[in-house]
Parts: sequence; structure tokens; C-alpha cells
Amino acid sequence: MKRVYNFNPGPATLPLEVLKEAQAEFLDFDGSGMSIIEISHRSKSYENVHNAAKSDILELMGLGNDYDVLFIQGGASLQFAMIPMNFATKKNPGFYVLSGTFSSNAYKEAKNLGVGEISASTKEENFCRVPRQDELSINSDAAYLHICNNNTIYGTEFHYIPETGKIPLFADMSSDMLSRPVDFKKFSLIYAGVQKNLGPAGVVIVVARKNFIEKSLETLPTMLRYDTFYNKNSLYNTPPAFSIYMVGKVAKWIKNCGGLAEMARRNSIKAKILYDAIDNSGGFYRGHAEKDSRSLMNVTFRLPSEDLEKKFVAEALENNLSGVKGHRSVGGMRASIYNAMPIDGAQALADFMDKFRKTNA
Ligand SMILES: *Cc1c(COP(=O)(O)O)cnc(C)c1O
Repeated sequence: MKRVYNFNPGPATLPLEVLKEAQAEFLDFDGSGMSIIEISHRSKSYENVHNAAKSDILELMGLGNDYDVLFIQGGASLQFAMIPMNFATKKNPGFYVLSGTFSSNAYKEAKNLGVGEISASTKEENFCRVPRQDELSINSDAAYLHICNNNTIYGTEFHYIPETGKIPLFADMSSDMLSRPVDFKKFSLIYAGVQKNLGPAGVVIVVARKNFIEKSLETLPTMLRYDTFYNKNSLYNTPPAFSIYMVGKVAKWIKNCGGLAEMARRNSIKAKILYDAIDNSGGFYRGHAEKDSRSLMNVTFRLPSEDLEKKFVAEALENNLSGVKGHRSVGGMRASIYNAMPIDGAQALADFMDKFRKTNA
């Protein structure tokens, strides 16, 4: 068996221990004689998986009884629409910080409904940084301020929590959820497609203050209302059991490693290894993100020419370094170094970068 270092942005690398555990219990889950994808979502065995995943997520985030965890399908992209449908009106629009592709897509959904406003944008600078606090404008009648905490494509991340006064703060944390301790209580609603940092594709975790999700507009379709998921413990209809099971295992793995503080320690070491390789390359590698907006999860950089970039991707793969090609809107390289990427993986990529530069500069 050959495993590579997987730098893909999502679906992305998962802890090997977790994959092995799932493999070992696949054919006979919890003594049921069935796999987790064959058992009833109404069975006791499944219910334990479902509820343990929820409570482990809340525990890792340091959140109490005033928050709940929902499991919803449709990807983070459906949250872009569900949020304005559930919370924004023409009188009380949602305000959006545009810091990359996904936050722009989120804004588009609200705008299509006639309930979205722009709070700030760094589009003119090709999203090389997140807006500063002093650039945010939020009307007092805003329903919420929406940010994307980590911009997966551009490789930038919020390193501060916007101060919004009485206005509720919502965040898309798809690509940095549970990667470091954050004062999550400052947020009224957080969502994350789990296929970046927490599991396989198929489910979105929504962590929200209960008073935001216990009552939705009566006119909304059942599956687009947060209260449908809240009132039925995300079991109104068949949940994506395998994805939730894997997220639960990843949450346990994070707890066993030492929680979010330990994730942050590892993630900053990996990020430093790669940003140092960029900064110490004499200009051969050029980072896309401004230094104080640099993401700990997605490291984006360019090479001197597109030909060298093609060569870099091909030779990296020969060295077992997979998935380093950047997104077409930024070009160049992107190394995604989520929780499950070992420090050795980041070091192997930095060593390769060094070697490649010496032979091609
Ligand atoms: C990948 C990603 C999305 C889109 O997620 P889907 O689950 O594919 O809809 C949204 N936001 C961020 C920050 C992402 O990284």
C-alpha cells in the first residue's frame, strides 16, 4: 500500500488512525452484523454515534447548553441560501464581508433574494487579505454580519473576530473549523462543510445559538428551515450516517490528541515551515496572501512562470506530494495543511520546494 501526502483542499486528508478504525469496524458495526451504512438511522447504535458527535463538537468548541449542533446536507453552498432565507428581510438585510470566492457566493444568494448588503470587500486587491475591522460597515438594522473565516482558495484567514456590537455574527468556517481555539461564543451561527477539515463530503455542521434556530418562518419549505433540524435532533429525515460517523471519529481523534490547542500548535508549526520556505526563497516563490492575513490551513504561492508551475506539480507528485495545484482563480500552488496533515508532510513539501528552487532558479 502506498499513501501520499495529500495537500488537496477538499475532500482532503483525514487522520490515518481514523481511516483504519473505520476500516476495521466496517463489516460489523457495534456488533450489529451490519455496516454503519446499512443500519437504520433509528437504531440505538446509530443514535449513539449521532449524539456523541454532537456533544464532542460542542465540548471541543467550549460551548454550552445555549448552542446546538445540526447536521444538514446540501453542502456549505446550501447554507449560503438557507441563512438569508431564515434570517434576513428587506428591512433587516444580511451584511456580507467579501474576502474570497465563497463569501462572494454567499452574498450572491442573499442579493438574489433582495436581502443582502456588502459590508466590505477586498476584491480590488484580488482577495490577498481579509478586510480590517475599521473597513467594515454594518448598519444598525442588519440582521447579521456574515464572514468567511478562512478563504480556502486565496489562502487568507481572519486572525481577529469582527466586533459587531448588537448585530449577530455568522461565519462560514468550512476550511478552518476545529483547527484552533476561537472564542466561538462571539458567533451566533457557524457552519462548516466537513469535507475540508473534519470528514468526508456529505454533511454540513451548523453550530448555532438555540434561540436563533428554534423557530423559523412558517412560509419556508420544511427542509430549508433550521427549526426542522433543531426540533428533530437532525433526524427529521434520513441523515448522511456515514459522514456523521466519520466526523464523530475525527472529533474523538482531536480530543485524544489534546483538543484545539494542540491542533493550533501543530497547525502553526506546519504553516511556519511552508511560509518560511516561501519567504527564504529569494523571491523564487511568491506568497499570494499578505502576511497578516496568511491562512494556517491553505498556503498559496506562485512560481516565476507557468511552465515552472506545471513542472512543480508533476515533480511534487513523483515525490509523493499530491494535490498542490492551486485554484484557477489564483493560479500557482496551494498546499492545504488541515489538522490531519502530519508535520512531516509539511516538512517534506518544504524540502522539495528547496530542492526544486535550487535546480530551477
Ligand atoms: C469548500 C467551501 C465551500 C463550499 O462547500 P460545499 O460543501 O462544496 O458547498 C464553502 N465555503 C468554504 C470556506 C469552503 O472552503
